Amino acid sequence: MTAVGAEEQPDRRLTPRSDDEGWWFRRMVEAAPAYFYIADPANSKTLYRSRQAEVILGYSMAEWRDDPDLWADNLHPDERDRVLAEFSEASRGGKPFRAEYRIRRKDGKYIWVRDHASLAEDPSGHGLIVQGVVLDVTEQKTLEQSARLALMESAAKSKFIDSVFDNSPLGVAKLDAHWRITEANRRLREMLSPGQEMVGVSLAEFLDPEWIENVAEEFRPLWQGEVETIEAEAQVRRRDGEQRWVHWTASTVKDPGGDLDYFLIMFEDNSAKHAAEAAAMASLEELDRLNRLKSDFISIVSHEFRTALTGIQGFSEIMRDADNLSPAEIKDFATDINSDALRLNRMITEMLDMDRMESGRMTLQVAEVDINEVLEESVGRARAAHPLHHFRLELDGGLPKARADTDRLTQVVANLLSNAAKYSPEGGEILVRSKHDFTTVTVGITDQGMGIPAEHLDKVFQRYERFGRDATTKIMGTGLGLPISRQIIELHKGRIWVESEEGKGSTFSFSIPIGS
Ligand code: ADP
Repeated sequence: MTAVGAEEQPDRRLTPRSDDEGWWFRRMVEAAPAYFYIADPANSKTLYRSRQAEVILGYSMAEWRDDPDLWADNLHPDERDRVLAEFSEASRGGKPFRAEYRIRRKDGKYIWVRDHASLAEDPSGHGLIVQGVVLDVTEQKTLEQSARLALMESAAKSKFIDSVFDNSPLGVAKLDAHWRITEANRRLREMLSPGQEMVGVSLAEFLDPEWIENVAEEFRPLWQGEVETIEAEAQVRRRDGEQRWVHWTASTVKDPGGDLDYFLIMFEDNSAKHAAEAAAMASLEELDRLNRLKSDFISIVSHEFRTALTGIQGFSEIMRDADNLSPAEIKDFATDINSDALRLNRMITEMLDMDRMESGRMTLQVAEVDINEVLEESVGRARAAHPLHHFRLELDGGLPKARADTDRLTQVVANLLSNAAKYSPEGGEILVRSKHDFTTVTVGITDQGMGIPAEHLDKVFQRYERFGRDATTKIMGTGLGLPISRQIIELHKGRIWVESEEGKGSTFSFSIPIGS
């Protein structure tokens, strides 16, 4: 680098002459936050560098002069190739050199500079020169960088907030003072308005009239500024008409002036919780009902046991103590004792069956069964037990055999026959029919008894249920016979049902598949 001699002897005069343009110019150049340079376009060597270069980069004029590569060597490695290429292009008369780059000062620190240079005529007439100016822009760059960083940070923050808003498991909305939705997140749209926009819509549109009043009442303290946050439960109606339960929390968001900016409201869909609570409540009620039935059952059973035992005890005491009973009387008493004992036995069997049924231990011994035979035998026994009733059989002569458990089927038929007789205390006909189609065998037992009130028809097959009369006193029973019969028929993959008219009689029927 060749320095111009005048630079070596700076003019130190403090008072300028007003016409000394050179002095004024030099003062200006030396005071500027930039340095000027002139370089030879032929070899890019610096011919002149103004004194500010010393201040800006820390190298003395002598150092600049002694090392022609000082500038190039101190360019930041990331930018060196680009800067040198652009500079040599400008030196060759290409486009002017306009570069921003980092350069290392003598103290090792990099600073940012803006370097503008262009090709010009050498005023001394020696050909062309490159003249340029280098400005220290580190401060500006740092500011720019921190502004850019702050911008990026705030963009990232708002992106984060947007993604929290949109992916929140809660439905979130902003409401204006009139309850109009000004923003709604995805979850809320899914919850209340799938596939439709919510912005601009009033929250009231998602509430049934009775709930509008409710929610407005709960909202009031927030409106009136008495509280900052409020939460409650509400039933909302989705756009598709479905009702849901939500837990909502609303808070006031104020503007910098302290006035209401918007209400922030969050919704949590707790329909599932409500459904579970309702189900728990229903099953509690069902448990309660069963408990009541069970305690009724215990009192009925104890009563029935006592009645049967009292009969046995009474008749046997008469037989023991009376001296001159005729054989016919003895036979009568023995028959009564026997029937009470049978009744006790049946009740115990039913209770054990019920227990077996409830614990899923009831099983079938399946074989080929002639159901007509089961009916004939059962009716034979029923005739003996219920002399007041007239039993009639209408059996299907072509009834195919079914695969079933004979004892269990006999139990069902005996139970239906005994009910038919029990619940027609006036006597009357009991008709037993069988028939079949391609797939099933059906049995029907019709009595002319008291019948079952319509409202109880669907309950007779439930555990412990007994209806229509003061059961504990008049007609003996435990309420277990029909549920056990139903379980047996269902184990055969069949079904059992009843048709009845109160005061006229009932028909209990069951059908089982032929090959079950
Ligand atoms: P139980 O006869 O021991 O009470 P069941 O389970 O056999 O128990 O019958 C349940 C209830 O159904 C009876 O208490 C009775 O109210 C009613 N019921 C059953 N069969 C008849 C019938 N043939 N006629 C009228 N009511 C009947």
